[in-house]
Amino acid sequence: MAQFVKIQLSVFCYNCIVCGSRPVIEQAKGSKFIVRCPKNSAHYQTQSGLVDIDDWNKNNWVQDSDDKLKVVAN
Ligand SMILES: [Zn+2]
Repeated sequence: MAQFVKIQLSVFCYNCIVCGSRPVIEQAKGSKFIVRCPKNSAHYQTQSGLVDIDDWNKNNWVQDSDDKLKVVAN
């Protein structure tokens, strides 16, 4: 079973663009980490390596029709 670690609430991160879940950190082999959706591994996840919340955020922000950034509420 994959082990998930919660991301501290003080850390800014977008919710999963598909289902709106707050991402978690999965501990991968070789002391590496993946930032991913806790519900579905088919939703976006970062490459295994350092905890890359920036990469997660780049791939999960939502654009509305006015081309403004919109944060998905928790
Ligand atoms: Zn998701």
